[in-house]
Amino acid sequence: TTFVKGVVAMSGLPPDDRPEICFAGRSNVGKSTLINALTGRKTLARASNTPGRTQEINFFGLADRYLVDLPGYGFANAPVKVVEGWQALMKAYLSGRASLRRAFLLVDARHGVKPVDEEIMALLDRSAVTFQTVFTKIDKVKASERDRVLDQVRTALARHPAAYPELVVTSSEKGDGIADLRAIISTLE
Ligand code: GDP
Repeated sequence: TTFVKGVVAMSGLPPDDRPEICFAGRSNVGKSTLINALTGRKTLARASNTPGRTQEINFFGLADRYLVDLPGYGFANAPVKVVEGWQALMKAYLSGRASLRRAFLLVDARHGVKPVDEEIMALLDRSAVTFQTVFTKIDKVKASERDRVLDQVRTALARHPAAYPELVVTSSEKGDGIADLRAIISTLE
């Protein structure tokens, strides 16, 4: 894989000349770790994980596709200006990117779907971007809790027309689900 670029505005996007898959999720959901696991990279060039910093969209080349790391959301105490900037960029990107094939919406398996996740699901609906939910950190969840969280997520997804019904369950720590995710990515033409 190659790091292609980090962009802060629509004008900076690379040409949309290949299938593109984006990754969205609350900050700390395990997005960077998951993208590292998928690409085999050890470290990602990325903006610091703090709400005051400029939020970048990072593009990575994987085979003949782009993996797109969207800035995390749901920071506690994020300044209004930062939230508004994030919303404007997300709206523009999700509704304006012709090569975008699917969004992976990452949800921490311990926490399930939160109101901020519902907000981005609604945005994905309005943008007509199919999104597939990816559970992260499944290694942190007891088998007895797993079904409850899965049910909560399935109930939430049923309200969203852009939701792809099949979930992917992952642990970047243990390597669970990584091959499944790679296989899905490779089928998106
Ligand atoms: P991001 O803010 O979404 O990019 O989150 P990071 O990838 O930086 O991960 C946040 C924290 O969760 C880090 O401490 C990671 O080591 C941890 N983490 C990420 N994935 C997993 C996982 O699959 N299992 C466990 N146990 N921890 C994880």
